[in-house]
Amino acid sequence: MAQYKNIGSALIHGGISTDAYTGAVNVPIYQTSTYQQSALGETPKWEYSRTGNPTRAALEALIAELEHGRAGFAFSSGMAAITAVLSLFQSGDQILISGNVYGGTFRLLDKVFKHFNIGYSIEDTTDLASLESKITPQVKAILVESPANPLLTITDLAGVAKIAKKHGILSIVDNTFMTPYLQRPLELGAHIVVHSATKYLGGHSDVVAGLVVVNDDALAQKMAFIQNSTGGILGPFDSFLLIRGIKTLGVRLDRHVENARKAAEYLKDHKAVKKVYYPGLADAQGYEINKRQAKNGGAMISFELYENYDIKKFFQSLKLIALAESLGGVESLVCHPASMTHAAIPYEVRQKVGITDGLIRLSVGIENIDDILADLDQAIAESEE
Ligand SMILES: *Cc1c(COP(=O)(O)O)cnc(C)c1O
Repeated sequence: MAQYKNIGSALIHGGISTDAYTGAVNVPIYQTSTYQQSALGETPKWEYSRTGNPTRAALEALIAELEHGRAGFAFSSGMAAITAVLSLFQSGDQILISGNVYGGTFRLLDKVFKHFNIGYSIEDTTDLASLESKITPQVKAILVESPANPLLTITDLAGVAKIAKKHGILSIVDNTFMTPYLQRPLELGAHIVVHSATKYLGGHSDVVAGLVVVNDDALAQKMAFIQNSTGGILGPFDSFLLIRGIKTLGVRLDRHVENARKAAEYLKDHKAVKKVYYPGLADAQGYEINKRQAKNGGAMISFELYENYDIKKFFQSLKLIALAESLGGVESLVCHPASMTHAAIPYEVRQKVGITDGLIRLSVGIENIDDILADLDQAIAESEE
């Protein structure tokens, strides 16, 4: 067993980080669907790869250790992970969500789980007193993101967990934007953490994956049952890619965050910029709460240009930063939440929660910061009318 005290080392040595059979310093890709059994009637450790696979198990042990949970589960996408978590609920149950949860999560609840009579209601999770007042006997969980997509809204995760515990319901945190390197919701009292590992954990925009971590054995048993029953597992090769990505999460995020801070400062002072949303800025909504519950403000920034700047032209003029969905990869990406990531949310709802048509979301990559700023600068200049 490797010895270490800090998460920066756990990223590299955590979980099952070497191969017991050969001593290989990387867990091999066990590209197999089934396993030869030694005798009839014995319960083998490895039976069938939907139920368990050594490469996936190494990743699951790693994320459980990083999030300080009891058990981890790897899925074929973030949405598959969230689907598995929502499969814990029954017809008649209600889930409270914040107004700016990931668009796909909203769509899943609104268009799929609704048909199974699992309901949701949109609440302001930044207002704990109001949130608690919405809990009825039908409410079985609160699902939050902090920072939330795309306005980087901060929710008090310990506060939400406390309310959930008091009412005997689950608190679920989508920790995609922070990762366990910057924020560990289970330590703050949450029951379940979900990830789109497609983003920072994978980190190279080359794998789609989801993870779930739970904080107790009873939930772990239920999740294992759901994972095996519904079958949306992550394959061995993608599990390997994710383990490899996670090894460099610390160094990547250190640079992502350093660049994001500089980009946020730059945008804040720019005459074309109406508003900057970044939890690392001292005047940001929830700044103090975020400082308490996370290591820093992360590396996602949203900003709004004044009306005399043509948003379409801005996106067209970028030369380094790519227009794309997704985030958290080494390359800087921009997107237009209203027409891309949050298009599934009806226009009226978008207006209500502040996702205006002028909003730009920037996933700050780890390129040289001077190049990132120069690209923003010239694109903003091009878009002035
Ligand atoms: C991308 C994302 C998801 C969905 O994950 P996929 O891997 O794309 O299925 C869920 N939550 C958040 C916060 C995300 O950014």
